[in-house]
Amino acid sequence: MAVSAALSTGERLSVPGLRNTEVQRVRRLQRRLARAKPGSNRRARVRTAIGRIKARETDRRKDWVEQTSTALARRYDLIRVEDLKIKNMVRSARGTLTVPGTNVRAKAGLNPSIHAAGWGQLVTRLEQKAPGRVEKINPAYTSQICHACGHRAPENRESQAVFRCRACGHVDHADVNAAKNIRDIAVGRTVTARGALQPLGGAVNREPQPVLSSG
Ligand SMILES: [Zn+2]
Repeated sequence: MAVSAALSTGERLSVPGLRNTEVQRVRRLQRRLARAKPGSNRRARVRTAIGRIKARETDRRKDWVEQTSTALARRYDLIRVEDLKIKNMVRSARGTLTVPGTNVRAKAGLNPSIHAAGWGQLVTRLEQKAPGRVEKINPAYTSQICHACGHRAPENRESQAVFRCRACGHVDHADVNAAKNIRDIAVGRTVTARGALQPLGGAVNREPQPVLSSG
């Protein structure tokens, strides 16, 4: 599954989407829909079937947002998230995902909006569950800087997933490398999450404090 966000601890989070079999079924249904006569019963039935699968996807994403936001709000004092504009993210995601030779491209048509929606909802819920503890930050250059040696070059970002430093050879998951850089921007023990398509966020480790009760 595609990575939707990475924490500077190395953990990766994925917004759950549809299973491959479900994606194939939606495609089949959409072809059937295109062939169905306007106003026909058949057309209505196919529409309903598509709607059911999409609703399943929405439910999965909501569950994921609730669970993930609760866990992060409990574990960390300060949560840093990339200041992002969802629309820009979707646009750039399309550009990024047309990297040749990978099968992310096949998913690009369906998934950028899903990732964007999942990330946007996650940030919203985090702000509600950890009021005053979510900080939006500017991620400039963090995806180009080597966390090991500090060398900054656009070529370091070898692909959507791989960071390979041209100076020292350091290799890491591209989003985890960026998350670690964001972490270092912060004072103290900071953990940063970075969304795969653009967004990133982070958190400072929580000092012993009463566990947040979350809504
Ligand atoms: Zn390096």
